[in-house]
Amino acid sequence: MERYYSYSHYLKELFGEKVFRVTVDAGFTCPNRDGTKGTGGCIYCYSGSDYDPEKRRRSVREQIAEGIERVRRRYGAEKFLVYFQAYTNTYAPPSQLKPIYDVIREFPEVVGLIVGTRPDCVPDETLELIASYSKDYLVWIEYGLESSHFKSLRWMNRGHGVSDFIDAVLRTRKFKGINICAHVILGLPTEDYDDMMETADFLAALRLDGVKIHPLHVIKNTELERIYLKERFPVLSLEDYVDLVVDFIERLPEKTVIQRITGEAPEDLLIAPSWCSHREKNRVINLIRKRFEERDTYQGARCRFKEAV
Ligand code: SF4
Repeated sequence: MERYYSYSHYLKELFGEKVFRVTVDAGFTCPNRDGTKGTGGCIYCYSGSDYDPEKRRRSVREQIAEGIERVRRRYGAEKFLVYFQAYTNTYAPPSQLKPIYDVIREFPEVVGLIVGTRPDCVPDETLELIASYSKDYLVWIEYGLESSHFKSLRWMNRGHGVSDFIDAVLRTRKFKGINICAHVILGLPTEDYDDMMETADFLAALRLDGVKIHPLHVIKNTELERIYLKERFPVLSLEDYVDLVVDFIERLPEKTVIQRITGEAPEDLLIAPSWCSHREKNRVINLIRKRFEERDTYQGARCRFKEAV
């Protein structure tokens, strides 16, 4: 029995088979880096959240074709979602975004579009464009929220407030067909246990369609590395993280798709904690699954906001 509603389970329900993501870097920048909102970016940002900065030298078309080929060879996959992941993938007028997103139409094996972005960078016209793909594709928008506490957003130099996120969610809902996912980070030194659980309750109250949960991890050549080396703030132990994730998911509605339960980086870039390396990913996931069993609990067990809106 699955103790939480995993992304793979959700996709299998929808498509009747395994569906794989192909991530692309469409060459966008970010308003939190180019001076519009800020210049330094979020303190943990490493090449806009893609560990392969070389990718952006290739066209979106080439990246999708190569990604499909690679995943097909490795897993025998037949269906794919294209995930515009790196930087802020709505940071251009809709007239420029459309030809970029439209590349997915050249690949009949693509069944979904995922757009990763900031909650302060989604005008209605852009949401209307993204929603238009829902006629033919599964469509998700992923908002970086990270925390429901402004003190933490300020510490991370996110350059937006919690209110921007609420506004983005409410406006996105006006455009039918877009599923909404939020990214969150556990283990911020600005937060205690109750703060983190408040973020879970906040997402539950908004009845988001999906959540991605990450542990705070320090990557080389980021502002976070500089702060960490200077202040040596404590990072989460694996043991604590495993329990926190279970507690967090218990507070989310049963129908929220849990798209991610950990975060990891290449070993040569990772400063701390050491269990956030690519190599440890499956171990972390298995420990979280095991902890659900040991505690005999499940997603929604402590959710206070179950009614559909
Ligand atoms: S919003 Fe994303 S791309 Fe922009 S600075 Fe933050 S992490 Fe980097």
